Amino acid sequence: MTHAAEEFPNGVGYIDGDYCAKEEMRLPVADLGFLLSDMTYDALHVHKGSFFRMEDHFDRWDRSIAKRRFTTLPHGRDEIRDILMECVRRSGLRESMVYILATRGAAMDGLKDLRSCQNNFLAWAVPYYGVIPDDRMEDGIDIMVSSVLRTPPEAIDPTVKNFARIDFSDALLEAYDHGCEHAVLLDRDGNVTEGRGWNIFALHGGRLVSPDDGVLEGITRRTVIELAQQTNIKAELGKIKADELRSADEVFMTSTAGGIMPIRKIDDRVIGTGSRGPVTKRLTDLYWALHDDPDYTTPVAY
Ligand SMILES: *Cc1c(COP(=O)(O)O)cnc(C)c1O
Repeated sequence: MTHAAEEFPNGVGYIDGDYCAKEEMRLPVADLGFLLSDMTYDALHVHKGSFFRMEDHFDRWDRSIAKRRFTTLPHGRDEIRDILMECVRRSGLRESMVYILATRGAAMDGLKDLRSCQNNFLAWAVPYYGVIPDDRMEDGIDIMVSSVLRTPPEAIDPTVKNFARIDFSDALLEAYDHGCEHAVLLDRDGNVTEGRGWNIFALHGGRLVSPDDGVLEGITRRTVIELAQQTNIKAELGKIKADELRSADEVFMTSTAGGIMPIRKIDDRVIGTGSRGPVTKRLTDLYWALHDDPDYTTPVAY
């Protein structure tokens, strides 16, 4: 363990222009990021000491910042890149989840005029973790199709990564009551969307599909589609109904936090043979192998 890792075992944060231990970060309750979830964020990861698809995350971040009209954000891409490098360097972490957040900021008076707000920027690097526990990465987790609908994209744009997630919270509470660890949400037309922090894929008769609409456009989702296409697995964005999900040959979730993660059971239906399928396994191996490709990685100077 490096000296830095001993000093900051829970990671390093950046807030108000300064670095600190992650657990010391504080945001004023007057920030509309807290009061209204008027914020956006992105999550990157570092594997074997290098960022994965860093500029692709920044492209998505820039689009989110523009859509939220955060025009008074203190830092642009080059500065943010330096800040993230510094957070990871100070943490000493070789495997890390790295977050960048922008909030609307505090309003100047009770009118909460959004135009008077100074946007805030914060970031942190913490030890790497997945959406599901490590000991479920082989066999997969049990999820349910929630009766809670995903917030419609016309109300909250899901392509802007955000923490306005009460739909996901309510879906998870329902899932826990049914002995499931996660929930996938449908839209008003009964199409599968996504879960809290992850996209979903279903393999049906050799064809891999992930929802085309009403979801965050995951970097991991995109990587899986690119890898599938390179290896002659048919992969596309499209519509999936709940029944098609339950009867799929393989189902997996994708996220920066954990990569490609198998799903074992949906409601009471066992998927395939009840353990990670061959296509899921193949794509998982390719996904992690891509982390050795210099075209996809940006090394941290520790
Ligand atoms: C972050 C996130 C994902 C996964 O995106 P990645 O870029 O692959 O990490 C999927 N859905 C939601 C709602 C998310 O917040």
